[in-house]
Amino acid sequence: MTRSGIVTVVGKPNAGKSTLLNRIVGQKLSIISAKPQSTRDRILGIHTAGDIQMVVLDTPGLLAPRYELQRVMRSTALKALADADVVVYLADATTGTPEPLHEAAQIERAPNVPVILALNKMDLVGDTARASLALGNPEARFISAATGDGVDALLSDVGSRLPDSPFLFPEADVATQSVRFFAAELVRETALEQLEDEVPYSVACDIEEFRETRSPVYIRAVIYVERDSQKAILIGQAGARIREIGRASRVKIEELIGAPVYLDLWVKVLANWRRNERSMKRFGYRTTEGSDR
Ligand code: GDP
Ligand code: MG
Repeated sequence: MTRSGIVTVVGKPNAGKSTLLNRIVGQKLSIISAKPQSTRDRILGIHTAGDIQMVVLDTPGLLAPRYELQRVMRSTALKALADADVVVYLADATTGTPEPLHEAAQIERAPNVPVILALNKMDLVGDTARASLALGNPEARFISAATGDGVDALLSDVGSRLPDSPFLFPEADVATQSVRFFAAELVRETALEQLEDEVPYSVACDIEEFRETRSPVYIRAVIYVERDSQKAILIGQAGARIREIGRASRVKIEELIGAPVYLDLWVKVLANWRRNERSMKRFGYRTTEGSDR
């Protein structure tokens, strides 16, 4: 019998979400790209170990004050929370006991699934503070995403609370995915963030070259759109927008792989790629509806 499910990681900015996710990526996660229907969801990776598989989702903006007014972001984040089988609520232990998740997220009640509180940055917390945190939060997992302390225990806790289920993604699929796909996903996500709703579903990204043996790591990426008019929007006045997309994407990819990156970014028109199964596959989309989440 296998267990499999969606694990959603929530936490305030600076709690250490990226650090935790990168650590897990560095160990066992493989990266996949999200399906096009959920352009603003972020599937961060799939972690398969033994007979347990977790699909890890991020909830951009759920607890980030600057996103509070962006209803779309918030409703997507709330959906990710509702879709979760297990929620990991990550909090910075150096700031004391966190408020309950439903208060931090300004929702009426806690999600209807197990919520695991993980207190992060324990490497910065002294014994006395640790003892009082333990007293006040008997259920919490104490971790350091930076050193890896407690992360395995957290993962096995998460795994034990996932539902009995066949793997959501075939193992073979997962094995063939790589950081390259996630890099493409980050470029696409960045383009979408900066385009608001002008052309969202028409944007795809393909990584044509990814040379990790160089420093900086050389990545050539192409953003595909369906029409010339969309290409013009993406490029912007005197190339200002594409430069900003490139800069912001590069920062995210550097954060993901932990090394300096040279991102060579291009925009091309590929008419009707969304209606073309081969293009969809090329961009890492699963083309059969209903077989994933
Ligand atoms: P995010 O905003 O939730 O994604 O947080 P980040 O992962 O970007 O981390 C915010 C800051 O906290 C960064 O400077 C990290 O290096 C640092 N950080 C994250 N986890 C730990 C930890 O376990 N220990 C220490 N000392 N620093 C951490
Ligand atoms: Mg982050």
